[in-house]
Amino acid sequence: MTNLENLAAPEPDGSVSGVWPTTVKRVDGELHIGGVGVTSLVSEFGSPVFVIDEQDMRDRARAWKNAMEEAFEDLGGAEVFYAGKAFLSVAVARWMAEEGLAIDTCSEGELRTALVAGVSGEKLGLHGNNKSRREIELALDSNVAHLVVDSLAELAFVEAIAAERNATAKIVLRVTTGVHAGGHEYISTAHEDQKFGLSIAAGSAIRAIEETLAATHLELVGLHSHIGSQILSLEAFAAAAEAILALRARAATAFGVTIPEIDFGGGYAVRYTVLDDVPPAPIDFAKALAGAVTEHVIATGMPAPSVSIEPGRSIAAPSAVTLYSVGTIKTVQLDEGSRRYVSIDGGMSDNIRPALYEADYTAALANREPSEENVRSRVVGKHCESGDIVIKNVALSANLGPGDVLAVPATGAYGRSMASNYNMLTKPGVLAVRDGKARWIIRPETVEDLLALDADA
Ligand code: PLP
Repeated sequence: MTNLENLAAPEPDGSVSGVWPTTVKRVDGELHIGGVGVTSLVSEFGSPVFVIDEQDMRDRARAWKNAMEEAFEDLGGAEVFYAGKAFLSVAVARWMAEEGLAIDTCSEGELRTALVAGVSGEKLGLHGNNKSRREIELALDSNVAHLVVDSLAELAFVEAIAAERNATAKIVLRVTTGVHAGGHEYISTAHEDQKFGLSIAAGSAIRAIEETLAATHLELVGLHSHIGSQILSLEAFAAAAEAILALRARAATAFGVTIPEIDFGGGYAVRYTVLDDVPPAPIDFAKALAGAVTEHVIATGMPAPSVSIEPGRSIAAPSAVTLYSVGTIKTVQLDEGSRRYVSIDGGMSDNIRPALYEADYTAALANREPSEENVRSRVVGKHCESGDIVIKNVALSANLGPGDVLAVPATGAYGRSMASNYNMLTKPGVLAVRDGKARWIIRPETVEDLLALDADA
């Protein structure tokens, strides 16, 4: 058995901490995950395939729960909603519920998946900037903990639907704090020029509070802010927390109301490669948020709100790897040196993040011991698209060849959940591995599945 030090490249400090699931190790050169060797996984289940380390994902969920409970013990308590958009299946919803988490959904599909898993309504939230009537009705009928409302227009829409059913909708208002953090512009969501949220600066947030309080079928349970994704900065979360808590204080002065809940959203960073900074631990994020809440309580004399957060990536991403089979390989000459193109049997249809966000990943030869020597490589998919790049620049084992298994770590979030059928490729299945056993939690699509949707096939 070797340790992980030669596993991922590039790795200038020789460490792979936080990039691979915790049970990953090499046994006689072969990568094992959850106690199962990748060779047997690929020969039995095929490739490409997502492999989730169940224990790892549960542990990450539990770490968030414990951190929030610890940080908010002497304040108003805390709830962790796993952001299902990162990756959701019935099994994952059950794991999260068993670890004591609630689930944040943002579509009928996600909501129904959680309901099929047996998650009760009070452990569910519904998000979305353009919810359908059907989604709102399902949320009301399921008695979800809250609907996160994104605009004044939606507030009126929810009020009308709740009135028809003589129901009361529990409303959390999503506000934009002006704090802008995180990686790529498309995943930074608290600045003003974007589709989400009610602006504090422009006054729509305070107006939405007033309208919710005045409505007969709405109950104002909370305020929500989500400032972006892949955020490392504790200061950014603290600044957004201060802004939303100031709005809570303003609402108390203006309307005499104590808004009971504050949701600080998701966006906590993970490591995709060893070149990425090591993100703060859940307890560090939790304490930064608790610090802002403590200051608010001291400054205003208001009771502490109950707090919730919505981590997705930081629970799901590092728990999974994608296994690909290597196909064609070619080397191109560059001005300085050369680059090896390694084609794999998936690509932008199972991992769109590099094309969408210029996201970086690493990879490792997984079915046998990598050679000492590495070669500058680019990992590309099989799509008819030159931008179909999974890893732009990675030092990969010189002895890698056709038929080998390549493992790409940290693909558990926004991989399978953002997958497409581009070029009529079938979406890979998802395996859960634990204690030496593997099972499908989502079976792989077949071409027959695709043809079954074609009205003329
Ligand atoms: N909550 C909201 C409202 C979001 O929009 C997102 C992601 O886009 C999340 C939570 C989860 O974010 P992350 O997976 O980065 O933790």
